[in-house]
Amino acid sequence: MLIMVIGLPGAGKKTHAKKLSQKYELIYVSSGKLLRKMAEHDTSLGTVVNRYIKRGQLVPDQITIRLIREEILKLKDKNMIIEGFPRNIKQTHSLERILYELETDIDLCIYLKVKKQKLVERLSGRRICPRECTIYHVEFRPPQKEGICDKCGASLYQRHDDKKDLIKEKINKNQKNIKEVISYYQNQEIFKTVVGTDKEIKEIQTKLEKLIENRPN
Ligand code: AMP
Repeated sequence: MLIMVIGLPGAGKKTHAKKLSQKYELIYVSSGKLLRKMAEHDTSLGTVVNRYIKRGQLVPDQITIRLIREEILKLKDKNMIIEGFPRNIKQTHSLERILYELETDIDLCIYLKVKKQKLVERLSGRRICPRECTIYHVEFRPPQKEGICDKCGASLYQRHDDKKDLIKEKINKNQKNIKEVISYYQNQEIFKTVVGTDKEIKEIQTKLEKLIENRPN
């Protein structure tokens, strides 16, 4: 099974993809996570990737596609949920080529749709656990003890690209790109849109689970 979760930054891709990966025993593949790991390396490539991530800009396709390609080919016929990729039309075409190589198809492409104003609210208050246990929000989903992860006790941090001045620019740039990805998939049976707001996380999750259980084929 291959599930894809796409959407703008702050739409809840990570939160939902992680929950679905646990429930359906899918391997969680996140382009952001893979790239952040690469950025930690003290190499010229790591430095380049780190620079893009810090500014909230897309890492060049050449680097991202190669990384995702290696990961998907490594996992081969395992069940997986891919989050954060593809983010533009070039990545979409590359993904299709990778899947063709593997003689496999996407079972479901879920687009988490959230209004821009809500994304800004979410991103500006977002706090991250360095061990990626859970994503918090200072107002909507605060940890029990301020600044501390409920699950592992690590100190939470604010992502550099979640700083107010970078958020709007990040959303605007991603918007144009994601529209092209949506256009590519939207007439296919596998494409489903879920509004990722106005409801509790649990309700959205239930909706997503239904989509997976009733997926085409
Ligand atoms: P995320 O964790 O998905 O918010 O991603 C963190 C950062 O990694 C993004 O702001 C980009 O700099 C980079 N990134 C993640 N996914 C992609 C992608 N598909 N293409 C290019 N850059 C990406």
